[in-house]
Amino acid sequence: MPFMTLTSLILLGVIDPSVLPVTQVKNRRLERNQTVAKAMHDAGLDDATVTALHGALGAAEFNFKKARPGDQLRFVFNHGELDRLDYRRNLLTEWQVRRDGDHYVARRREIEREQRIDVVELTIESSVWDAALAAGEKPDVAVTLSDVFAWDLDFYRDVQKGDRMRAVIEKVMHKGRVLEYGNVLAAEYVGSSVGTKRTFRYHLPDGTDAYFAEDGTSARKTFLKSPLKFAQVTSGFGGRFHPIINQFGNHNGVDFSAGPGPPVWAVADGTVTRAGWDDGGGNIVCLKHLMSFETCYMHLSKIDVKVGERIAQKTVIAESGNTGRLTTGPHLHFGMKRGGVWVNPLNQNFPRGDPLPKTLMPDFKEKLAELRPRLEAKPVASVTVP
Ligand SMILES: [Zn+2]
Repeated sequence: MPFMTLTSLILLGVIDPSVLPVTQVKNRRLERNQTVAKAMHDAGLDDATVTALHGALGAAEFNFKKARPGDQLRFVFNHGELDRLDYRRNLLTEWQVRRDGDHYVARRREIEREQRIDVVELTIESSVWDAALAAGEKPDVAVTLSDVFAWDLDFYRDVQKGDRMRAVIEKVMHKGRVLEYGNVLAAEYVGSSVGTKRTFRYHLPDGTDAYFAEDGTSARKTFLKSPLKFAQVTSGFGGRFHPIINQFGNHNGVDFSAGPGPPVWAVADGTVTRAGWDDGGGNIVCLKHLMSFETCYMHLSKIDVKVGERIAQKTVIAESGNTGRLTTGPHLHFGMKRGGVWVNPLNQNFPRGDPLPKTLMPDFKEKLAELRPRLEAKPVASVTVP
C-alpha cells in the first residue's frame, strides 16, 4: 500500500476530520542537509500542500538556496490541515504563510531591529556562562568570543577563575534585548594561565576580514588550540563542567573529558580519510592536513562528514560521545600524527598565518587608534550604527 498522507486519507473518507485536534502546532528546525520541502514532508504535509507552499514562498521572494540549518518553521494545523506556516530565518526575517480559501499567500516580514556596537566585559567567577549572564549578556557571547581566540585559547581548559574578557562587539537588538551578536571588532583576554591576548579585526583589500595583534601578527594559526568547539552547553561550564586532560602517554593521544555532546571541529584545513566505526575507537573521524599532519577524533556520538570531503578549519565534523570498546566515559580522544608518527598535539608549535603586509600597517594603526580606546573604556558607552 502506498504511503498515505493525512489529507489524502481525509479525502478518501478513511479519516473523519472532525476527530482530529482542532489546532495542532509543530515547531521544527531545519536540519543539516535537509531541504525546506523535506522539512515540510517530515511535518506531515502532502505533496500538493508542499507545492502550494513553495509557490507562495517563491512569490514572496523566499530564496530556497538560502535556507540554513537552524531556520525555524512553525506549522499550525487546523483539523489536520495546514492553516499557517511561519518561517523564521536568522531571527531577523520571517515569512508568514496563511491559507486563503483553497490557496496559500505568503508575505515577508522584517523584524524590527537596531544595530549597535557595544563594549562587553566579562569577569569569570565560576564559568564563562555565568559571567555572561552576570554582565547582562546572552551566553552566546562566550561562543562568539571563543571563536576569535580559538587559535590561542582553549575555552574548556584555559579559563580560570578571575580571568577577564573585554570586547568591542556588534549587537543586533530588538526592543532593548540582544537578538544576536555580530562581528567582534576587538577583544582582549586577561588570564592567569594564558597571559594577555589582544586581537583586532581588519578588513583586507581582498574583501575578507581577519584578526591581527597590534604588531600586525596574524591571529590565525594552521591548527586550532582545541578540537572541541566551545559551545553553549546547558550543563554550564567551569564549576559545573570540568574537562580533564589525560597525560599524553601510552595511548597515542589526548583525552578531552567532556560532558555530553560538545561539537568537535576540524583543527586545520584537511581532507577526510576516515569516517565510520572502529571497534575500539567507536565512531571515528580522521583528517589529512598539510605538512604531513593527520588528526583523529574518537568515541564520537555523531559523525557529520564523509570520506573524501574537503574540510575547512573550524568546520564542525562531529559530536563528542562515549562510543567504542575502549571508551572510559564521555570524552573525546584526540590523536595527531606527523609524518606517520604519533605526536603530542599539545606540544606542537604551529605556524601562524601571514602577518599584515607592511604597506597596510599605517591604515591598520589608524583603525587601532579608534578601537583601542573603546576596548579600554568602561563598558557603558555604546554607539548606534546609522
Ligand atoms: Zn584516549
